[in-house]
Amino acid sequence: MKLSGYNIDILVTGFPGKSVCHGSLGWSTIVLIRHRDRLALIDVGAFGHRKLLLSALEERNLSPSDITDVLLTHSHYDHALNWVLFPKARTVIADIEMNWALEQPWGETPVPELYVRELNLLPSLVRAKDGEEVFPGITMHLAPGHTPGCVAFKLAGAEHDIIFTGDAAKNRAELVSRDTDMTYDPMVSANSIEMIWNLWTARGGNIVVPGHDVPMDLDPDGKPRYLARREAAISAWYGDTIDETTIINLVID
Ligand SMILES: [Zn+2]
Repeated sequence: MKLSGYNIDILVTGFPGKSVCHGSLGWSTIVLIRHRDRLALIDVGAFGHRKLLLSALEERNLSPSDITDVLLTHSHYDHALNWVLFPKARTVIADIEMNWALEQPWGETPVPELYVRELNLLPSLVRAKDGEEVFPGITMHLAPGHTPGCVAFKLAGAEHDIIFTGDAAKNRAELVSRDTDMTYDPMVSANSIEMIWNLWTARGGNIVVPGHDVPMDLDPDGKPRYLARREAAISAWYGDTIDETTIINLVID
């Protein structure tokens, strides 16, 4: 995606699903935004993303040290854990989210307790407030419900805006239904999704990039329309040799 002055690459496209027998899947979206001499990542993923993220950067002749800014939608492991790859980057998280994450009892939530504790000591950590400009042209908007301090980021482009919703609205189903799968209060989440819709419909051509789905704009009837093809599959060893693998495609057309 291109906007005047910005180059936007979705390095990893999130997937709107959960594992049935093995707990959460955590396949979240990671976006690279280039603007002049600044390079920002919106969310950084978890352990499973590491190789993917590093090779996506390498394909663009970039290394982790080139990243100047990390913008975290919230503290959950599948979005925030890999901040350790970018310790020099200016790392932004909502002040409310950081305070909440530090207070979470160990072993009970998707907050990576020790990574959050270390993040709090990072000299380049920025605890941002609602409405704050956290990167040139990008404002942070509190969108609680999934967690108390989860946020959406709005990139205000010359042509249109792009709204990165993180897990405030994880996927198309949550956006359309205003209902959420993981929330501490469905009404709080519904209000946040309404706020996201207000950002989305504020200008024609605006795009939403959810934390666990492909980017969407709105068709002439105001209905969300996918802008990319979903890609998801699992490779499994169901045979007797390591060379024999079965690909299980998770995309339904
Ligand atoms: Zn989350």
